[in-house]
Amino acid sequence: MTATGHLFFSVSSLILVHKLSITPEFVYGDRLHLLAGTLLGALLPDIDHPLSYLGRLFRFISVPIWRLCGHRGFTHSLLAWVLILLLSTKLTTSYWVSYTLVQAFLLGYFSHLVGDMLTAKGIPFLWPTRINFCFPILGNNSNQKLEHSIAILLAICAILVPSNYQLSTLLPLLQEIKKNLIIYIFDQLNYLILLNSK
Ligand SMILES: [Zn+2]
Repeated sequence: MTATGHLFFSVSSLILVHKLSITPEFVYGDRLHLLAGTLLGALLPDIDHPLSYLGRLFRFISVPIWRLCGHRGFTHSLLAWVLILLLSTKLTTSYWVSYTLVQAFLLGYFSHLVGDMLTAKGIPFLWPTRINFCFPILGNNSNQKLEHSIAILLAICAILVPSNYQLSTLLPLLQEIKKNLIIYIFDQLNYLILLNSK
């Protein structure tokens, strides 16, 4: 997914979590912090590519990560997201860092991972295992029009969610998604074990 595609997608995700009232910060938090955190989080995973937007600005960070893990390696994993979550928890409790900003940043980062999963290349979500997670509705090549259309569609769906919508009504659907995701992960792991045992 392109940088602008990620930015669009992250803002749509922000509208969605705001409407679903995932946490009080997404509903009542400072709008500027929400937007800044989401956009920054949406760009950060691609710092592992020296030619990405942040990669060009911070080459002294991007080049070592790229050499060590390659593009779409560690920074595109659940592990990286969890580490940022742990670090940010420490930051918000030990220093003056806006909790709203941190939550928005984590949302933006996660939306980037989901966005890249929609491409044919996918991501190693469970890095360091090389299992590839992809739901390639965006196909092989970067198609900005399609990326933007999906982001706009998500934003429209999010806007259509009533403001007082209770997340609890979504719980059965979320549980079904969680169940299918766990089955998918186990299937992939079994496939990998079978491949290695041959
Ligand atoms: Zn990426």
